[in-house]
Amino acid sequence: MASTRARGKTAPARKTKAARTKYVYFFGKGKAEGHRGLRDLLGGKGANLAEMTNAGLPVPPGFTISTDACRRFYEEGRRVSSAIDAEMVEQLRRLERATGAAFGSSTHPLLVSVRSGAKFSMPGMMDTILNLGLNDVTVETLKARTSNGRFACDSYRRFIQMFGNVVLDVPKDAFEHELEAVRAARGVATDPELDEAALRDVIARYKKVVRARSRRTFPQDPLEQLRLSRDAVFRSWQNPRAREYRRIYEIPDDIGTAVNVQLMVFGNTGDRSGTGVGFTRNPATGAREFYGEFLINAQGEDVVAGIRTPKQIAELETVMPKAYRRLRQITSRLERHYRDVQDFEFTIQDEELYMLQTRNGKRTGYAAVIIATDMVAERLVRPKDAVLMVEPEALSQLLAPIFDPKEWQRLPIATRGLPASPGAASGQVVFTADEAVEWTRQGKAVLLVRKETVPDDIHGMFVAQGILTATGGMTSHAAVVGRQMGKPSVVGAGALRIDERAKTVRAGDATLREGDWLSFDGLTGEVKTGRVATRPSEILQVTSGELKPEKSAIYQRFNQLLSWSDKVRTLGIRANADQPDQAAMAYRFGARGIGLCRTEHMFFGEGRIPIVQRMILADNEADRRAALAELLPMQREDFRGVFEAMHGSPVTIRTIDPPLHEFLPKREDLMVEIARMEATGQSGRALEAKKTLLARVEELHEFNPMLGHRGVRLGISYPEITEMQARAIMEAACQVVKAGGRAVPEIMIPLVGDVRELRDQKAVVVRVAEAVMKEYKVKVKYLVGTMIEVPRGALTADEIAKEADFFSFGTNDLTQLVYGFSRDDIGKFLGAYQDKRILDRDPFASLDVTGVGQLVEIGTVKGRSAKPKLKVGVCGEHGGDPSSIAFFARVGLDYVSCSPFRVPVARLAAAQAALKQRALD
Ligand code: PEP
Ligand code: MG
Repeated sequence: MASTRARGKTAPARKTKAARTKYVYFFGKGKAEGHRGLRDLLGGKGANLAEMTNAGLPVPPGFTISTDACRRFYEEGRRVSSAIDAEMVEQLRRLERATGAAFGSSTHPLLVSVRSGAKFSMPGMMDTILNLGLNDVTVETLKARTSNGRFACDSYRRFIQMFGNVVLDVPKDAFEHELEAVRAARGVATDPELDEAALRDVIARYKKVVRARSRRTFPQDPLEQLRLSRDAVFRSWQNPRAREYRRIYEIPDDIGTAVNVQLMVFGNTGDRSGTGVGFTRNPATGAREFYGEFLINAQGEDVVAGIRTPKQIAELETVMPKAYRRLRQITSRLERHYRDVQDFEFTIQDEELYMLQTRNGKRTGYAAVIIATDMVAERLVRPKDAVLMVEPEALSQLLAPIFDPKEWQRLPIATRGLPASPGAASGQVVFTADEAVEWTRQGKAVLLVRKETVPDDIHGMFVAQGILTATGGMTSHAAVVGRQMGKPSVVGAGALRIDERAKTVRAGDATLREGDWLSFDGLTGEVKTGRVATRPSEILQVTSGELKPEKSAIYQRFNQLLSWSDKVRTLGIRANADQPDQAAMAYRFGARGIGLCRTEHMFFGEGRIPIVQRMILADNEADRRAALAELLPMQREDFRGVFEAMHGSPVTIRTIDPPLHEFLPKREDLMVEIARMEATGQSGRALEAKKTLLARVEELHEFNPMLGHRGVRLGISYPEITEMQARAIMEAACQVVKAGGRAVPEIMIPLVGDVRELRDQKAVVVRVAEAVMKEYKVKVKYLVGTMIEVPRGALTADEIAKEADFFSFGTNDLTQLVYGFSRDDIGKFLGAYQDKRILDRDPFASLDVTGVGQLVEIGTVKGRSAKPKLKVGVCGEHGGDPSSIAFFARVGLDYVSCSPFRVPVARLAAAQAALKQRALD
């Protein structure tokens, strides 16, 4: 996944002797001006084409117009300066010399492809034009040179279609309509059945379409075609789907795309030609097998677009053994060279193999773990390289649920497709991306079912539980994007009969309508009608003890990768857990400590709420203490369980945080109930109790509870609550220690902004703790610290540190208070902020390093200036977010704490942060 928050640093612009910035880079004849290190400047595709050229591989020559040129294009009002244009023409002449062909030549015309290529791959999001250079003259020359009029005319009509659509904005349908009309007139069903005469008819119709729709004639001058196409590719950087893709994958908007202009090689000259794509290993399962698909007599786009269902690459060995052997040899060499799985594109023209692209292959989380560990075993990479090969987020795919096999087997298979991306998906069928988004917004789980997906579907694919298509292969758009998103996907389920207009799909004997339930397994490709319950993944089965580790190969790899991670990371990993079972799960996932136990969550346990309410309703200290005394044993039991689950790792327990009215019924509900009781003639104690409750609820009502009577302020108003909690914690710890176990309590006071608040509460805690230890006649090492989640706390951290044994940044509240965005209401405007690019990401999910991060840094530095050994961690949601983790590692925090299920992700992210930091130092 191209997810990187590190903003693409632009390589310094190359200077020539005359100190002129170079914008166009040539590659060809075994030598290129670029190399793989110039991805910033040449984009991934351009940099790898240069690298392959330098390695002597068969790459058609061409040149790359840099991303610098794209940025200047936008700076200068969407136009290319004459200087850059002149440089392009200069390189074009060089290409002509290298190939012996010339633009517009009636003897040997130069034909090129024009393709986008940004630093991060954005499959299908931007535009491509093939066969450029064809016109009414060169099409005849192409016919003469190849003795193949059908091929020449087919290439020309494809060019007009692509150019018309991409450059002149003529809708695809307009061309499709003409093609259909010609097919109908000739009585044929498919395009390959159209002969030369029919294609000449198509060309004439296409030109008319262009004239009618764009009010200009189709340009005959190849240089004009090239300039217009280059600009269109630059423009496609800002098309809505590319922008949406960048938003999802956090690719910066301002890095721009390069444009690659490359000599055309043709996979559609006949049966000795073809085109394909592939991977050096299976990107869905990670298996070490040569993997891919090809089509005979076709152009590149046919494979990816999923229009024709391609053949397995192994068949190429029988059809064209020489080209196949060469392809195997080249791609293995590429894998060794890049030390990673390669995703490649090739074309065979008259049995001659050409490489058109290679890049590190995107893969499922499952495959990523298998490949990384395999490559270490093969001694292709070292363990620390393997740690860097897996996206931390990919690990969460391995924890995703699978179907309960018994339930799954009970249903008959409706149909099968290709298993493009593993995972169990069950949801209600929708047929468009917009519906997927709308239904999801209504809280429904949906499956996006399409004949084939197109890049415009990206928003729907993103929200769906899974993606199911009727056409296309394992490298079709749906498959590639589904895998990348870690979304269960089954593609090319050819037996599905989808009627997108009528909103129905026939799967086997059943006809499903929009909203009906469907399920599929992305690992096997099986599709079934109905809803199927899911069950925990294999990794979870092992962690919960249901399955033995030696029975699960994937668990062993997962564990291996994480133990390599643990060796290099500097950050400790803790979990946010409130209950013993959560703590136990976190421990099994590798958390070594609890960073936040929110004690108030325990108040919601069975039978506890009435006691908590009694405590809140008490109008005198004695009654409050009586209620607290009832809560004490319950809290103590919970704490004991958490200590035991952590086997002596530290446990940070926070005193009560939310405002008290959160534990009482809602004011409106009470009013309705009282009215109902009165209307039905009820009176007496029950009614009076309700009225008292309502009065207290009204008393506790706050205009802005998030800024109200919560956190340390509650402890200051009602010290007996802090006393009870401190006692429960220390009694639990003493009991564990007395029983021969280990317990390391860290008592944490929330929402402190002034050192005097902490001093007040610390005095209570210390007094109680000392008393409890005396009573139990046992010594327990305990700490008293604070959360830093109020800006003033961070700014005065040096003062606070004098009283605190540790800090834990509460970045949820800190973000809320630094931005002034309510945690609970940001949903109302976040979408608009993201659409307008005011915010790239939800700051509550990924730390705002520039603003909130500053306070984290200030708080840490100031705190440690007063107490050099101060322990500092973070327990806001950001503790489980890989890019935030990289920041916390940089600032030098001691640990991050996140939800139990994020622990594996955090272990890997922390290791990557350490390795990247080391590389920088
Ligand atoms: C925080 O504010 O970051 C935090 C962890 O506390 P809570 O989410 O409970 O307010
Ligand atoms: Mg908080």
